[in-house]
Amino acid sequence: MNSCCSLADLGYGTVFISLQDLEVRKVEFSQQFAPGTLDLVGDLRQSGSLKTQGQAELLSEHRGGKNVVKDIRVRGDFSTEIEIRCARCIEPVPTRIGGDFDLLYRPLGVDAGHDERSISEAETEIGYYSGEGIQLEDVLREQVLLALPLRTVCSESCRGLCPGCGKNLNTEACTCGEQPPDPRWAVLADIKNKLK
Ligand SMILES: [Zn+2]
Ligand SMILES: [Zn+2]
Repeated sequence: MNSCCSLADLGYGTVFISLQDLEVRKVEFSQQFAPGTLDLVGDLRQSGSLKTQGQAELLSEHRGGKNVVKDIRVRGDFSTEIEIRCARCIEPVPTRIGGDFDLLYRPLGVDAGHDERSISEAETEIGYYSGEGIQLEDVLREQVLLALPLRTVCSESCRGLCPGCGKNLNTEACTCGEQPPDPRWAVLADIKNKLK
């Protein structure tokens, strides 16, 4: 008897969830992606490997007559490590994130005329696919971005960057706070003293 689906069977690399496969059966995935696989926005970097497992299936939505919409439901979980910039000193902070997802993808354009936007806003779990299926990495990239904390600091005691010279005050000292007083004020102070 085959021992199926233990974590040792983790696959590596890209996964395309195709309609063709889904027509036949559910597609189960149990994958690991190397660091840097996800193409993230801005300064974000996938610094740890990403593990995910779950399944995809086809749901037929009967919309009257012969109008059947083929939705792809993708469920699963993921975990990875992302480097996020500290909000104060902009040093990269490795941050573990993960979560569950349960998503429905409709063919792009199928809701046209039904106001695609209002549907996706009311039910945020609905997305759209085009072509012959969905790239699993695209699903994961979106889930990673949604799971990111709103604000990250390297430590609660982070001293940030000096607004004067831009030095990282956690690692460098600067003299911006110790400038000699403006000489014009010294003159005024002198006059004031003489008036006393
Ligand atoms: Zn910091
Ligand atoms: Zn400074």
